[in-house]
Amino acid sequence: MAETVPLQQRIARVIRQDVQSTHGYAIQDSKGLVKLDAMENPFGLPAPLQRELGERLSRVAINRYPVQSTADVVAALSRYAQLPAGCKLMLGNGSDELIDMLSVACDVPGATLLAPEPGFVMYRMSAQLRGLRFVGVPLTPEFELDRAAMLAAVEHERPALTYIGYPNNPTCNLWDDAVIDEIVAAVGAQNGLVVFDEAYQPFSSRTWMQRMASHDHVLVMRTLSKFGLAGVRLGYLCGHAALIDEVEKVRPPYNVSVLNAEATLFALDHADEYARQAATLRAERERLQTAFRTLPGVRSYPSEANMILLRVPDAKRTFEGMKARGVLVKNIGAALGHPLLANCLRLTVGTPQENTLMIDALKASL
Ligand SMILES: *Cc1c(COP(=O)(O)O)cnc(C)c1O
Repeated sequence: MAETVPLQQRIARVIRQDVQSTHGYAIQDSKGLVKLDAMENPFGLPAPLQRELGERLSRVAINRYPVQSTADVVAALSRYAQLPAGCKLMLGNGSDELIDMLSVACDVPGATLLAPEPGFVMYRMSAQLRGLRFVGVPLTPEFELDRAAMLAAVEHERPALTYIGYPNNPTCNLWDDAVIDEIVAAVGAQNGLVVFDEAYQPFSSRTWMQRMASHDHVLVMRTLSKFGLAGVRLGYLCGHAALIDEVEKVRPPYNVSVLNAEATLFALDHADEYARQAATLRAERERLQTAFRTLPGVRSYPSEANMILLRVPDAKRTFEGMKARGVLVKNIGAALGHPLLANCLRLTVGTPQENTLMIDALKASL
């Protein structure tokens, strides 16, 4: 059969206009650089654990669809996370997929998603791609929740879903608990759901996991990406059983591969190793903060995550200077284009050696 129109015309006809005009999620090329741009755990596994992982993966039945492996991971994570009684847990191929499943499940007519901004970009992106309204409520210039604006937005927009980054990416902070309590109550009164995104849980001093038990409209979402398995893609969503049962219906049945599942079970069997790594990263975070505080013209913001937000005099110059010196961070102000983030860089906490390189590169690039 003859093709009658050039591909560009076909694309113009069949691909959504809004998809054609977006750029997609940009990932920086990190070849040859110290990679401190994506909140990855910098530590590899000790050789004996590498061998054990290899042996375990070699025994996995890759000819079968993942069924029992998914159930095993749900059980292991429920224990690891100390899931409260009456609650359930479901799996996503990373929490990015869970965010998308929530958009699908909550796409009732007129549904709105709400989140403070600047925040994690996938909330907005998923809403857009799934055709839901998204309302971003600006944080204050100090990156605190704007209590009045948040409560007014909840009242006025009656969002189906409100996302709270706990702590928030890229501002790294846990917000005022009293304000969060008010928001949770207000969303409850409007018959909506609140999702606490705890992607940075290993580095954070607080969690909503146990508090969720007494609020049936609250969900807690976590991921093993920042824990140390970014390459494995494993996210989990926790909430009251009846609610998780509903969201579970939109989960693609085989979304977590048997290899991802086995790697997750392996990591949870060695949770002590990952806990040591997280402790090192928390200590390194404090070392970085101390170093950054001495730099003239630099403001570093408090962090409950494995990243630090810095405001520098000229973010473009500093970002490029650091890159020229072999250290890749994120020019988050430029990437998100949010006015509150003008001249802000986001730095991932690396190994002690990487962090020393980062401090030196930063000093030389201001
Ligand atoms: C990294 C991150 C995620 C996504 O994690 P994946 O499980 O890798 O998809 C979700 N939320 C926040 C706030 C993040 O920073």
